[in-house]
Amino acid sequence: MSVDIERASVQIREQRLSSITGYNGTARDLCDRYDKKDLHNCERSFTQCTSCSANQVMNQICCIQDAAIVEHGPAGCSGDIPGRNLVNRSGRKKRNLPICNLKYINTNLTEKDMVYGGERKLEDAIREANKRFKPKAIFVTTTCASAIIGDDIESITNKVEKEIGIPVVDIYCEGFRSAIWATGFDAAYHGILRKIVKPPRMKKLDEVNIINFQGKDIFTELLGRIGLKVNYIVPFTTIEELSHISEAAATLQICSTLGTYLGAGLEKYFGVPEVKAPAPYGISGTNAWLRELGRIVHKEKEVEKLIEEEREKTAPKIAELREKLSGKKVFIGAGAAHGHGLIAIVKELGMDLVGSCTWHHDPLFDNGNKKSDTLRNDVKSYGDFKFAICNKQSFELVSMLYKYRPDIYIARHTGTIWATKLGIPSFLMGDEHFGIGYQGLINYGELILDTITNPSFVKGIAAHNKLPYTDWWLNQYTFKFLGGKKSE
Ligand code: SF4
Repeated sequence: MSVDIERASVQIREQRLSSITGYNGTARDLCDRYDKKDLHNCERSFTQCTSCSANQVMNQICCIQDAAIVEHGPAGCSGDIPGRNLVNRSGRKKRNLPICNLKYINTNLTEKDMVYGGERKLEDAIREANKRFKPKAIFVTTTCASAIIGDDIESITNKVEKEIGIPVVDIYCEGFRSAIWATGFDAAYHGILRKIVKPPRMKKLDEVNIINFQGKDIFTELLGRIGLKVNYIVPFTTIEELSHISEAAATLQICSTLGTYLGAGLEKYFGVPEVKAPAPYGISGTNAWLRELGRIVHKEKEVEKLIEEEREKTAPKIAELREKLSGKKVFIGAGAAHGHGLIAIVKELGMDLVGSCTWHHDPLFDNGNKKSDTLRNDVKSYGDFKFAICNKQSFELVSMLYKYRPDIYIARHTGTIWATKLGIPSFLMGDEHFGIGYQGLINYGELILDTITNPSFVKGIAAHNKLPYTDWWLNQYTFKFLGGKKSE
């Protein structure tokens, strides 16, 4: 089943996309297993902590400029909010928006509420959010606690919505609903598609949606050169802007792990074509992404000119970086599709990818089109490589870094502290637009070179550091606790 906004809650990725959280082998084997209907998730008999999908809902909705959030749960579930507020304030500053805090209320469910129910608290909190923040919409998010007691969120949000006259969007994202944290993105988009996006009044042929996180604005200039305007969605939009994203000529994504549900939903319910191509990382992905966009918006010639200009401008520097980085050993740990993008970058820089792991894996995205399958595109463009899925389990990540001993570890989300303790230079990439396009290869090449040129700092730390993991674990088979066939 794909996107279905008739349902109150989103169908989780395990069921919708056959997504998995455990695997060890090679990228080609993983793709082949899916094709042969032989791909099964492997459960771990031991796990450390991982991410909660409620946090990924916040990732997308908490920076909407004029919306408020009511999280129905214990205060502990708001542990991610200070970090989100930091992103909100710095993101607003970057965009010249007035700097302010998030508009967020937590219902503070207690033990007593777990016995007697928390519906009254939720109603009061929605009214309070409306009074306090005067928002254009309120998003109500669930947590494990509110789901366990079975509060009737849908009835409450529908009732209060009529009373206060603005959309009150119920989003079902309790942590235990899905083992795939990225299901939280889908849950947020499900609510937006159901209650915020309106049918198009007219089509804007020169405007495209780009589903992103909070990266630096590079697309206004890049796509402006072929006469297109850009709507970044969802963070930092307004509710009015979001309600009209159905009018765009196309939807693009910089990460299908993020935008799969929204891209497919906008096409299915509002007729906005989704650009079905790998993300624009590396020359191969960038060309495919731009050409597919050009085909949809009938700007094929303009796109070819743009590609040629970018190629000419960057070729000498890319060649120089390739020469310097050729054969350097690299290990990548990142969210799924973004990780595949990083793999494309290091392969095109001529580096030796000794291993890679992503936090989970979606064998196919919601549009069901293999042209969008970022891992498959990597295998097609660069051949097979070692690949694992570790669900952010640090003990597995540490084991791989210890065994592979790369010259550099490139991370998104986690693991740089472990690399440092092992004496491996690393960096954590926050801006997902840093590696986009031809210039992205130069950006990454220079940063990698800079990071590995003088490793004495991390070597010094490693020399004075005692790892909490013993030799018993470090010399052990990395995926000892992962059920299923051993393939290392
Ligand atoms: S929703 Fe559940 S998993 Fe997420 S922070 Fe709250 S208690 Fe933890």
